[in-house]
Amino acid sequence: MSDQREPITGIDVPISLKYNFTAGAGPARFLSQVRKGVLTGQRCPRCEQVYIPPRGSCAACGVPTEEEVVLADKATVQSFTIVSIPIPTNPIEPPYIIANLVADGANISFIHLMSDCVNEEVRIGQRVQAVWKPEEEWDYAMDNIRYFTPIDEPDVPADKIGKLPVSGWGA
Ligand SMILES: [Zn+2]
Repeated sequence: MSDQREPITGIDVPISLKYNFTAGAGPARFLSQVRKGVLTGQRCPRCEQVYIPPRGSCAACGVPTEEEVVLADKATVQSFTIVSIPIPTNPIEPPYIIANLVADGANISFIHLMSDCVNEEVRIGQRVQAVWKPEEEWDYAMDNIRYFTPIDEPDVPADKIGKLPVSGWGA
């Protein structure tokens, strides 16, 4: 007797994971400033790289980073990707842009959303600025910034990205 049933090749198993994040000393200081609408990095005493968000030590030198540096909420696009595939549980409608951005005054990029932009015109070196949530919604979270949006400033050459002072490009 032959078996006509189709083989099972996959099943959907919805799961939900809830977890608590323990920030640690460096990120906790960063998040308490973000709560006030201020972006801060930490400068390495040896190589002088400014990290945002700071982790409390320099990954390259292996030394603690103590010096707090207030950064601008303007940044430069270092790299980006256009997301075209919906991500389960993510409410943002594709296509949208996730970018590695380097804040003025910092040397290391962080990841954030770009919006209010023409996706096809986003480019490396493009200047952007934070669009913050209303102050009454601020929390200890980087999503106090809704997204970054392009601003009318000249592009930064690729070899200058991550080397701008806090006062920005052309200063
Ligand atoms: Zn260092």
